[in-house]
Amino acid sequence: MGLFQMKSKNTKPELKIRSYLFSKGLRFKIHDNSLPGTPDIVLPRFKMIININGCFWHQHGCSNCKTPNNQRDYWYEKFNEIKKKDIENKSKLEKLGWTVIDLWECAIMNDKSFNNVLKVLFFKIEPQENNIKYIYA
Ligand SMILES: [Zn+2]
Repeated sequence: MGLFQMKSKNTKPELKIRSYLFSKGLRFKIHDNSLPGTPDIVLPRFKMIININGCFWHQHGCSNCKTPNNQRDYWYEKFNEIKKKDIENKSKLEKLGWTVIDLWECAIMNDKSFNNVLKVLFFKIEPQENNIKYIYA
């Protein structure tokens, strides 16, 4: 695979989100290959999936996304492939009844925007939590 690994696991942003969920007492599975696209984080109780997208591979459009100058066609093709897969997997998961949340590497790794990331997460998680009276520390 050379310099870059296609879908890297256990990346820094992934670990940051996982340790946060863990600190809240939320149970999750990681890299569940029984689901389309092997989602990064699965919260079965909330029927919720969190994908932590690397900005480069998933072409976030932020400053981390510069296409390398060499072999541009190759890169465009790769990026398109990944984008297509992302869309396919997301729609498969949603058809199976999962809520899919996409989080971005750059937002997680920046301390200021990380707070917003957490707000987005809990905006999704909390309403359900009240329903099922799930208590976390
Ligand atoms: Zn980004």
